[in-house]
Amino acid sequence: MDLPVVNHEDYFAQIGDDHKFPINKFSELANYLVKKKIVKKFYQPYPCSEETLKRAHSEKYIKNVKNKTLDQKTIKKIGFPLVDSVIKRSLVATGGTVLASKLAINFGVACNTAGGSHHANFEGGAGYCVFNDVAVAAQYLLDRGLAGKILIIDLDVHQGNGNADIFRENKNVFTFSIHSKSNYPAKKSLSNLDVELDDNLEDTQYIKILKFYLNQLNQESFDYVFYIAGVDIHFNDRLGKLKISDEGIKERDEIVTENFFSKGIPLCGVLGGGYNKDFEKLVELHSFLHQSCAKLL
Ligand SMILES: [Zn+2]
Repeated sequence: MDLPVVNHEDYFAQIGDDHKFPINKFSELANYLVKKKIVKKFYQPYPCSEETLKRAHSEKYIKNVKNKTLDQKTIKKIGFPLVDSVIKRSLVATGGTVLASKLAINFGVACNTAGGSHHANFEGGAGYCVFNDVAVAAQYLLDRGLAGKILIIDLDVHQGNGNADIFRENKNVFTFSIHSKSNYPAKKSLSNLDVELDDNLEDTQYIKILKFYLNQLNQESFDYVFYIAGVDIHFNDRLGKLKISDEGIKERDEIVTENFFSKGIPLCGVLGGGYNKDFEKLVELHSFLHQSCAKLL
């Protein structure tokens, strides 16, 4: 069986050629997955509807993004210009995670080629995140009765503070984040479970820590998992402060996806961050998520 993967050409946006965010990675990743024969044909998402977005964001914030009336302070916090293609991308990428989250129920596992905008909270975006796609999709599944107890496992190098904020009072969503202590955001939010790592941590320690906490999580009765597979934990990342190798990331993705798939718990994988100094390497590292999932089917 082929792995269902969601992609859209509108994941690309005009943010300026000298922008620090590697926006080309979404289309390059899609090309790479086809070239590697991991995907034959992508599932195409629709832009997320306002009704669905409202499950995780205030109406005021959604309207201000759509009408380009967002205040300068919030635009600066997000770090993208508020232009048409950025608005479109934010809506389509969120729709993409919602679609992938439903596909995972039918196939056991499914992935987006974007997503993991985990710094956006109910009131607004931050840190290259406009809408919190995983939060929107998680709330969508709960509201539709498609999941009852959701785990968000966030292994991006940065803390998943948006999800921690959005689901603080929600007993049906458990937020778990393993991240670098000294990385953005300076002020962390409280997830249900946070693991803070010291700078320069290497593969062996990282994998040991991951396995320890996965074992703990396996004692709980989750019926759905979102996996934010940020690759900014890599040693050559511009923004991360850890020292994880290619093999370390590959092993991480295999351990996480296999752990839940083998228990019959649907898993929706999303990209998360990645700002590697080597662009081709960045695309390859992101593809480990899709390759690990494809192996399971
Ligand atoms: Zn990150």
